[in-house]
Amino acid sequence: MTASARREPPGALVVVATPIGNLADLSPRATEALATAGVICCEDTRHTGRLLEHAGVRAHRLLALHAHNEVEQVGTVLDLIAAGTQVALVSDAGTPVISDPGGRLVAAVVEAGFDVTVVPGPSAALVALAVSGLDVSRFRFEGFLPRKGTERRGRLAEVAAAPCPSVVFEAPNRVAKTLADLRDACGGERRVVVARELTKLHEEVWRGRVDEACERAAEKEPRGEHVLVVDGAPARSRPTSAEAREAILRLVTAGIDLRDATTAVEELLGIAHRVAYEAALGLRGAAGPGQTGG
Ligand code: SAM
Repeated sequence: MTASARREPPGALVVVATPIGNLADLSPRATEALATAGVICCEDTRHTGRLLEHAGVRAHRLLALHAHNEVEQVGTVLDLIAAGTQVALVSDAGTPVISDPGGRLVAAVVEAGFDVTVVPGPSAALVALAVSGLDVSRFRFEGFLPRKGTERRGRLAEVAAAPCPSVVFEAPNRVAKTLADLRDACGGERRVVVARELTKLHEEVWRGRVDEACERAAEKEPRGEHVLVVDGAPARSRPTSAEAREAILRLVTAGIDLRDATTAVEELLGIAHRVAYEAALGLRGAAGPGQTGG
């Protein structure tokens, strides 16, 4: 056998999703990927050690890679892959990278020209969307909102204005505060799904209005892991020409010139000039001679 025929397959990174609460959700492919990896990058070595024990995978080298050391660990992992090691990346639960460490590592491995593959599996965001009952043909992923200040207010405003549902992760001790902020931003009547402890023994999915969710959170302290799915803003129906005429008439009755009232209604209701002009034409008599916009 020649030297080149004996050469080990090149190293690669495999991103492996793990359960978000129910260990039976660890897929056979995930188990195989963890069993064949030379090194497993994980957030917490003890936590992942327990998962491996459950899966009957004999511990390989576990390398801690978490929010506080990811940048420093990237070089080590690149060296391992360059030396031919299959490296698996897991997080404590769910899909790595998604509001979890690993994004910088994946980017660096891609940049270095090595393979990145994935063993898909649970992710709290998708599980919550799937069970929400909302129209999730489109959705936005917010992850954790900024904790305070202008950035938080800006993101809440984006959630409020979004035309489709938004997925928000939240820690249990901040659920009540975030629901109250969502009520201020979206109005109390906006629909929300509060999904907690998904796939676990005490899984609960509550669906209702944001103001009701706030009351519930005030009555009983939220416990466990939570995902909020906030429905999109209701679609604004296009004002009819009768509504435009009504609005113009009100302004005219208040003493505003018909031309100015027509322009104001056109801008305020966001309707086409032609629609506003036609509405105004019907009011010509009411507004007196010589007052038509156009
Ligand atoms: N990467 C993970 C994933 O794909 O599911 C998410 C990691 S993020 C650090 C953790 C957040 O996900 C929690 O704070 C909670 O908002 C949500 N989460 C995770 N597991 C959950 C569960 N079983 N039920 C409800 N929410 C969960």
